[in-house]
Amino acid sequence: MVKVKVGILGATGAVGQRFVQLLADHPWFEVAALGASDRSAGVRYRERRWVLQPDMPVAVRDMELRLGEPDNFRDCQVIFSATPNDVAARVESEFAAAGYYVFTNAGPHRMDADVPLMITDVNPEHAPLIRVQQRQRGWSGFIVANANCTATHLTSALKPLHDAFGLEKVFVVSMQAVSGAGYPGVSTMDITDNVIPYIGNEEPKLEEEPRKMLGRLNGDGIEHADFIMSAHCNRVHVLDGHMECVSVALRRKATPEEAVEVFRSYRSLPQEMGLPSAPDPCIVVRDEPDRPQTRLDRMAGNGMATVVGRIRRDPILDLKFVALGHNTIRGAAGGSVLNAELLFQQGYIR
Ligand code: NAP
Repeated sequence: MVKVKVGILGATGAVGQRFVQLLADHPWFEVAALGASDRSAGVRYRERRWVLQPDMPVAVRDMELRLGEPDNFRDCQVIFSATPNDVAARVESEFAAAGYYVFTNAGPHRMDADVPLMITDVNPEHAPLIRVQQRQRGWSGFIVANANCTATHLTSALKPLHDAFGLEKVFVVSMQAVSGAGYPGVSTMDITDNVIPYIGNEEPKLEEEPRKMLGRLNGDGIEHADFIMSAHCNRVHVLDGHMECVSVALRRKATPEEAVEVFRSYRSLPQEMGLPSAPDPCIVVRDEPDRPQTRLDRMAGNGMATVVGRIRRDPILDLKFVALGHNTIRGAAGGSVLNAELLFQQGYIR
């Protein structure tokens, strides 16, 4: 099979390196080009610092980093974007207008009415919004966005509850890893022996993105789900993995045992289709009273699953639980790759 050629924008960063790692032996996609800033353009990839284990894949070591502009990626069809927001806001539309299929991890387009904000296990039925986007913008390419990394795992955990019982209110407190701030990210002096109770612009994202993803595709737009969200976001001294303590009020009351059952039995299109990066199960339920734990559970499903546990009654709302997931794998690069796998199989990528 001839593989689809892909380019990675922001390939030297925390998310970009995950893309390089996850795509190294991909059965359908092949990394053909790597992009970065003008500080890096022209430099061989191996000359930049690689922060993951195992070592940098051999196939990319001698690739020359390119400036992230459409004309420099003519040998690619798919673009995985992991650039800072200001860059994404400028270049991603240019790529899509030039015919590239853009999968973005950045924030600027997530809430655009005609951009699917997709977690493949949660709302694959939003994919047809791509055709609305192409029609309205006159593009042959498209932009599909990933959710914010914390919103990804929260929404994955909320989806089975919303389907089974209906959500009325959601209250969440996050404990987010330092890799969520990119590389080199938060300074050691700031985060050692510390919890920082503020992550710029994170709470609004967590309060609005789940409602779009759990909404319904209706004609040319998404009807956002009708529940109230309140979020507190904290940066903690953990390398990878975002933990979230969640309380929910449900429209139809449920016991913790019923909630466990809907979490355990949840399956979606990626599992049915057997997509290469799909975790199965996509939600892992832990029964131990002290799980999930960040270090022990973040790699569940190769970092692609959401782990839930401590599912119990909440005396203020109805139920409470803990959710955990890997931020740069499922919460970023892996989430984009799985979206691309689905859309490739469905014929959106030619
Ligand atoms: P990062 O580690 O700071 O990496 C940023 C990347 O963008 C680097 O490759 C950098 O290249 C490149 N870049 C910087 N300025 C640029 C410019 N002017 N033009 C072109 N490229 C430029 O950031 P990150 O954590 O990987 O985040 C990337 C994106 O993913 C952000 O939008 C972020 O919000 C989003 N995201 C991150 C996470 C996470 O857990 N980290 C999760 C979900 C979404 P140089 O090496 O040349 O500077």
